[in-house]
Amino acid sequence: TSFNDLGLNAELLKALSAQNFETPTPIQSRAIPLVLQEKDLLGIAQTGTGKTAAFGLPLLQRLKSQDRRPVPKSCRALILSPTRELAGQIADNLCSYAKFSRQHIACVVGGVPVRKQAIALNKGVDVLVATPGRLLDLVDQRAVQLQDVEVLVLDEADQMLDLGFIHALDRIAKLVPSQRQTLLFSATMPKSIASLAARFLRDPVRVEV
Ligand code: AMP
Repeated sequence: TSFNDLGLNAELLKALSAQNFETPTPIQSRAIPLVLQEKDLLGIAQTGTGKTAAFGLPLLQRLKSQDRRPVPKSCRALILSPTRELAGQIADNLCSYAKFSRQHIACVVGGVPVRKQAIALNKGVDVLVATPGRLLDLVDQRAVQLQDVEVLVLDEADQMLDLGFIHALDRIAKLVPSQRQTLLFSATMPKSIASLAARFLRDPVRVEV
């Protein structure tokens, strides 16, 4: 398959050729059409398989096709990541995919002043990439609210559980609408991830690469 066959719009295809992405990876060719159909997804995939684009491209397309302005202090897609480094990489990748479609992407992680992040969220963003702890700090300070989230992504879910984020994740799950699309990615599938998936996902399609 080529990216042209996956149902992506012209702006995203242009961004992919600008990056010299020619052929989708296996997780991309399997996941992109499913995510575009707004299905919940359980992806078993390691870093390096291209999973960021597998969820990022259809997510950007979904936000574009509805073309609403974000509500102040809110986001339409929320991506949770275990570490600052991974969150930063996801945000950088999404910015390059959104080069021509121009969705607004923000990244909030620990270790940098909260004040600046709160200002960045003031007008609302299309996509928020966050580590769970800092996200909840910002929620508690009323710098962001999660009731407009249409798509929730849990990336590297096994690592988030290993880092002790389970209570943070359960709290976040209560703050986002129950009517949403959820995508969960994990390198491994222990019982704890199966249980997390059962709580967070609705009738998910499982894709393993
Ligand atoms: P990820 O697994 O999402 O961390 O992606 C690993 C690396 O592969 C990133 O640097 C991506 O920019 C790159 N990449 C992802 N998909 C493709 C593709 N279809 N063709 C070429 N490079 C890709």
